[in-house]
Amino acid sequence: MNLAPYAANHLSSIGRQYVEPASQLRNEFQRDRDRIIHSTFFRRLQYKTQVFVSHEGDMFRNRLTHSLEVSQVSRGIARTLGCHEDLAEAIALGHDLGHTPFGHAGQDALNDCMKNFGGFEHNLQSLRVVDLLESKYPSFRGLNLTYETREGILKHCSNKNARQLGRLGQRFLQKSQPSLEAQIVNFADEIAYYHHDIDDGYRSEILSLKMLREINLFNKFYEENKKKYPKSSEEKIVYESVRNMMHCIINDLCKNSLHEIQKNQLASIEEVRLAPALIGYSKNMQKEIAIIKKFSKINIYNHRKILNMSNNAKPIIFKLFEFFQNDFNKVPLEFKQNCNESSERIIADYIAGMTDRFAISLAESF
Ligand code: MG
Repeated sequence: MNLAPYAANHLSSIGRQYVEPASQLRNEFQRDRDRIIHSTFFRRLQYKTQVFVSHEGDMFRNRLTHSLEVSQVSRGIARTLGCHEDLAEAIALGHDLGHTPFGHAGQDALNDCMKNFGGFEHNLQSLRVVDLLESKYPSFRGLNLTYETREGILKHCSNKNARQLGRLGQRFLQKSQPSLEAQIVNFADEIAYYHHDIDDGYRSEILSLKMLREINLFNKFYEENKKKYPKSSEEKIVYESVRNMMHCIINDLCKNSLHEIQKNQLASIEEVRLAPALIGYSKNMQKEIAIIKKFSKINIYNHRKILNMSNNAKPIIFKLFEFFQNDFNKVPLEFKQNCNESSERIIADYIAGMTDRFAISLAESF
């Protein structure tokens, strides 16, 4: 592996909470990745909604395929920039482990339920999953991941919660940066979902070709591809143009970030943490991204079909929360190992870990 001096390095990792002997076969970040892939929370992502309801059609993305796409984009960018591909992969695969059923609607509903009990933040929940909730190792709670993977998984955090997290929370209070690998995954997350939500939006017919052509960057590639492939179907030209658009965005991000990294002459990951955010798009691409963002908000995230799903999901979460609040005995024992937590936090842990279909059938059974 060709690591640049500013990359994270498994040989100089800050380490794990519980010291473990080194593996003969895998570096520490590869071990983190493997632990995430073999976790039950990771498998459940398959039945959790990303944006399009997971049980509505087999061809739409769910949280699992989203995580795989983020991982693929992250690895490509990390490799290009001389960063640690295995760390970027581990962070990407773990970044959404704390997501509730029913996408953002589920998260908002759970946050409402928890408003008098410390709230619910899905990034912090992802960290709770890897630190506490995934429970199958005899010698420690959670997955005992390296500091660097945990740092990357905790993308956002309120100051109040950051104060409880020791060293890991410091950067939110000091407004300093995480590793470049963590910064890469944040952008890869956004690049992946803009791309797949547009793709799924077109596939589900909530977006038409005419609407897509409002996106400057898409239209540019669409015009080119129509000339290049005059006999191809509209679908193929659309998919090709979305693909070209994504490629162009990733290229811009790599080129611009490399320029910023070189300008700052970074010699170590410690310098990365003290420097300004270095992964980012060029000025021109920022404008294109703003157009895509606005377009997606209006035409996808606020679309009647997507909002309907939110309206259907929220009562299910409210019903589950109320039921377990009234009858805490019904919460499975494995969630009650955090005995210093409020019963509401334990209920939130349980509900957040549910798949869409499990939450629906459980709520129907009451
Ligand atoms: Mg994500």
